[in-house]
Amino acid sequence: MQAPLIARLPKVQLHCHLEGTVRAATFRELAAQRGVASARASGPPEATYAFATFRDFLLTFAEVCKTLQRPEDYARVAREYAADAAAQNVRYAEIFISPSVWTFFHAGLDVNACVRAMRDTLDAEESRTGLRVRFICDLTRNFGTQRAFETARVAVALAEADVGVIGVGLGGDEANFPAALFVEPFAFARASGLHAVAHAGEAAGAGSVRDAVELLGAERIGHGIRALEDDAVVELLAKRGIALECAPTSNVRTGIVAPGAEHPLVLLDERGIIVTIDADDPTLFGTSLSHELQLVADMAGTHDVVRFLRNAIDVSFADAPYKAALNGELDVALESASERRMER
Ligand SMILES: [Zn+2]
Repeated sequence: MQAPLIARLPKVQLHCHLEGTVRAATFRELAAQRGVASARASGPPEATYAFATFRDFLLTFAEVCKTLQRPEDYARVAREYAADAAAQNVRYAEIFISPSVWTFFHAGLDVNACVRAMRDTLDAEESRTGLRVRFICDLTRNFGTQRAFETARVAVALAEADVGVIGVGLGGDEANFPAALFVEPFAFARASGLHAVAHAGEAAGAGSVRDAVELLGAERIGHGIRALEDDAVVELLAKRGIALECAPTSNVRTGIVAPGAEHPLVLLDERGIIVTIDADDPTLFGTSLSHELQLVADMAGTHDVVRFLRNAIDVSFADAPYKAALNGELDVALESASERRMER
């Protein structure tokens, strides 16, 4: 598939962290404006988001969060995300926000005001470009059970405030903070009507994926690629229709997949698991959704990329009529590009 065609196809984004979409130039400006001392923000521009290890990546993510201190900072980041997403013809997105990381650095931060500022910005962008964005609140493993519970309560309150929060997620230190610690916060969020997703099978093995499904009720798994270490877990995902949100460049940049190795998503797809593609933290990893789809097209072919795009529509939390509309948009784009026959 040609790169310009991939850029034009309508897309759904299911695994993208808002804080990981902050442009390097914006991070540098905000650091200066908000008085955040950062070697990254004051060093050479091309090295702003340079890092070598997963830990270093988490520190970079944290530094970005340190610069976000006011509702207008969040509004700016949301506006720039919407512009960058619309330029790739993203039509619908369920993006992660991490309020517990925000308040870790800025205890007095008014999370409601920040999310409201983003909501207003994104609503204005939607009326301009049609891009619809919903939020999933990440409960963040590193802070432990009690903090996760507090964040789950924040998520439920935000959902009730009608600012577009539709679920809870679980990112962070998977190896040291297993799913068992977060059973109650997830049960509370689900009982309150929120969807549940979780990162798993990235920095820990197949058992972590099983626990995310069985203990947390995760409806989709972020990454999940290490499910391949246990056939029973592969079967569990396939049987229950639990989709994986795969992000090839992210896995290489954090050292989960060796550079140059074929990404496990091909094998996972062959084993009957629903695969979707996203960029995770696009600006931090120096990638984009379109670029990730191009990598997958080179790896798996045109037919599979189109199928993965449809998977993302189908396993999103959008309602059925909206999903049908998104599938219709994809049909039209494929037809007009004369690619329809290649899908069959
Ligand atoms: Zn992620």
